[in-house]
Amino acid sequence: MHKLSNYTPKEQAIKRFLFFAECFLVKGVLRSAIYDVSRDTYRLIPNHLLEMIEQFEGKTLAEVKAFYGAENEAIVDKYFAFLEQGEYILWCDEAELALFPKIDLVWDYPAQISNAIIDIDNNTDHPFSKIFTELEQLGCKHLQIRSFSTQTVAYWDNLLQHLKNSRFQSVDILTKYDAVISLEMIKMLYEKYLRIHSFIVHSAPEYVYPATEDNITHKLAFVKDVIQDAQNCKKIQKGYFQVNMQLFMEAHYHHTYFNRKLCIDTNGAIKNCNTLSESFGNVKDTLLKDAIEQDGFQALWHVKKEETKVCQDCEFRYMCVDARKPLKGDDGLFYHETPCPYDPCTAKWMEVTEMTELER
Ligand code: SF4
Repeated sequence: MHKLSNYTPKEQAIKRFLFFAECFLVKGVLRSAIYDVSRDTYRLIPNHLLEMIEQFEGKTLAEVKAFYGAENEAIVDKYFAFLEQGEYILWCDEAELALFPKIDLVWDYPAQISNAIIDIDNNTDHPFSKIFTELEQLGCKHLQIRSFSTQTVAYWDNLLQHLKNSRFQSVDILTKYDAVISLEMIKMLYEKYLRIHSFIVHSAPEYVYPATEDNITHKLAFVKDVIQDAQNCKKIQKGYFQVNMQLFMEAHYHHTYFNRKLCIDTNGAIKNCNTLSESFGNVKDTLLKDAIEQDGFQALWHVKKEETKVCQDCEFRYMCVDARKPLKGDDGLFYHETPCPYDPCTAKWMEVTEMTELER
């Protein structure tokens, strides 16, 4: 049971608290976070609460209170009320504690490439059939196609036809606003092609999205943010944090953005990220499977936030998908040339006025 008060006073004296295995504690330099990977949510908590859980899990409430003393009894009660209300703990007998083993931190993925980004503009002439076939052969399941210029609905209809009998699981489309494209038109595409996960029209004059009851709010939307090129997509923002078992485990061993990712820029250059200059060939004359085996292509896959300055102190480090390229310093740690808008030492974000609509 989640609440100790549901037991008799005699039972309460012997019940021990157990932190659910699907909730993970992540300590930051100033505050901590509970990652609830069963609900894909997180809650920020004080470091003192994390320390209490780590030090006393498996103990009774009386034992915890005895350690902290009468002067801290109210705060201990407050902490346990929070843990019970969030369903982060249960109360059990001593013999039951062993029945709830912790989850091992392990990660693997059954493919060489898990996701890909393909950029297009007015001058792009990608061999889409070749690209999609080769990505499928590499096991890629998730595609993002970004257009920095306007495209007709017929263009997207034709492109999505290529994917109709594919094994891709999801396709996210980002395209530039054109007055002739309406929300109804993208809804029509969304309903026709089940692989579309999201279809966002950027640079729009106003923010428009379907009514909530459509259950597709924010998957189809017109947004005012102006996205001129790949550099605009290199943002770190709260809305991009993802809490899930897959990312949480992967982040312990790999870079959350670069690992198993392949990008193709508007000219067809094959890259780790389209904000970077280093290319591993052009998709017109290079096989994707050969590109990813070239020296250096996989180097960034193995850079963890735990060994990256600033990020290693951040409570968001296992949910943050940060596209900045990490560089290795003389001390063996990685660093970034541009600062993150979040400072883990102050727990503050850059001023809201400096952020765009999507970031808020
Ligand atoms: S400090 Fe690092 S982990 Fe934290 S939000 Fe910024 S980029 Fe992400």
